[in-house]
Amino acid sequence: MAYDTSPAFAAAQDAADPLAHFRQEFHLPAGPSGQPAAYFCGNSLGLLPKTARAAAEREFKAWEERAVEGHFTGDSPWMTYHETLNEATARVVGARPDEVVVMNTLTVNLHLLLVTFYRPTATRYKVLMEAGAFPSDQYALESQARLHGLDPEQVIVEIAPRAGEHTLRTEDIEAKIAELGDSLATVLFGGINYYTGQVFDMAAITRAGHAVGATVGFDLAHAAGNVLLHLHDWDVDFACWCNYKYLNSGPGGSSGIFVHERFADRPDLVRLAGWWGHDQAERFKMKKGFRPMPGAAGWQLSNGQIITLAIYGASVALFDQAGGMSALRAKSEQLTGYLEFLIHSLGLPKTKLEIITPQNPAERGCQLSLLVHERGRELFDFLAAQGVMADWREPNVIRLSPVPLYNSFEDVRRAGAAISQFYNE
Ligand SMILES: *Cc1c(COP(=O)(O)O)cnc(C)c1O
Repeated sequence: MAYDTSPAFAAAQDAADPLAHFRQEFHLPAGPSGQPAAYFCGNSLGLLPKTARAAAEREFKAWEERAVEGHFTGDSPWMTYHETLNEATARVVGARPDEVVVMNTLTVNLHLLLVTFYRPTATRYKVLMEAGAFPSDQYALESQARLHGLDPEQVIVEIAPRAGEHTLRTEDIEAKIAELGDSLATVLFGGINYYTGQVFDMAAITRAGHAVGATVGFDLAHAAGNVLLHLHDWDVDFACWCNYKYLNSGPGGSSGIFVHERFADRPDLVRLAGWWGHDQAERFKMKKGFRPMPGAAGWQLSNGQIITLAIYGASVALFDQAGGMSALRAKSEQLTGYLEFLIHSLGLPKTKLEIITPQNPAERGCQLSLLVHERGRELFDFLAAQGVMADWREPNVIRLSPVPLYNSFEDVRRAGAAISQFYNE
């Protein structure tokens, strides 16, 4: 696409955008002027879909009117409520419906999956992670090492970008995996690094991990609902993600997990069990002896968090209405490319501001991370005062994520104009 800096360009793009009307489906927060902000924090907390309240209200009503009977009666009885979400979820992450389930929150699910897929032995006990992984993932791994009586320092191997580079090279990740060889128990990577916005080559990492006999899993917090995923075809062992970032299901909204079909009928796999993972036909017989449901459902512990799941159901439905991830991704590449173009057009020297997110659209999602070497915090505050909501990551990164479901080209133009104004004042 040939971008230009004129306001007319943004207006023409919005007028021609087949997804533009989805913006009306969300509540946009107000900026300081009282006008809607240009919201670029969908990587942190997605906006409230207008359909979410009604979806939650339906469940309040069921609770109000039918109380305990709500488990078994109505259009979506609570007993099997989670099943109604599997197909839409599977489409977002490239999975079979039985490979996914929505439950708990992300870090909890990461632990549950590591209990199954990180099974260290005396010789094979290491875990490869990207350096600078999200802190919750680091803490989860440290504590998993201790759970097995191991020293986290001995277990966790981090791979960092080469000197002078901001992002990882796939060939370096592959080489590291090969080097660790049969000492490597598990590879745990983000699908997208939250700080740089780099998309990792999940297919290549999975192949490399499997080649040395390791299990391979991904934290897709920044990838689910953002980029195209093919978890099943990539042969990923396990994955989890939160639904409150690009999937707009609200603060603390429930998380998704993926467990590859290969493990669907493996009741022998070690796991932490609860009654909701138990064979559904026998669940209410309240008998001894855990027998897991086949597929991802067998990792459930508790009965579903229905209000939260209802909100998620409303939000994930919008992805199908918009034509699925490929339609969204096409717009996303244009929006992010436009933002990159506007920033480059300012001609700022790299010593002031550089974009550390990869330039190749295949290696990034919505997000651009600006490494601001001088006056970073001032720039961030200036943007906020102009009604451009970005987010700040210490020590000096501003992340901007134009989201195809609700951001417009005009939002992106506003961000570019505000950055320009900051440097020209
Ligand atoms: C957002 C995020 C989390 C947050 O975890 P919660 O358990 O939902 O609080 C964890 N890991 C990554 C990579 C994230 O981006």
